[in-house]
Amino acid sequence: MSDDADKAQIHEAEFLARSMAGAKSAGGPEPVVIDGALCCAECETKIPPARLAARPGVGLCVACQEELEKGARESGEREKTRE
Ligand SMILES: [Zn+2]
Repeated sequence: MSDDADKAQIHEAEFLARSMAGAKSAGGPEPVVIDGALCCAECETKIPPARLAARPGVGLCVACQEELEKGARESGEREKTRE
């Protein structure tokens, strides 16, 4: 279906734009939009509304966020600000 291909292309462009913008602004990835829902920038799992309410602008699901923070702590590269 061309419809799906279009969505995939939009998604890809959006992901690139957002990941570049997110890198300099929030210090973390921004969520991708799939079928109108905000999804994890890493694994594309839908981010629960409760999580979005608690962490506005969060771009990762809980699992990926933990991975990111774990990796950042271990490598000591990019420290995330604690909230
Ligand atoms: Zn994820």
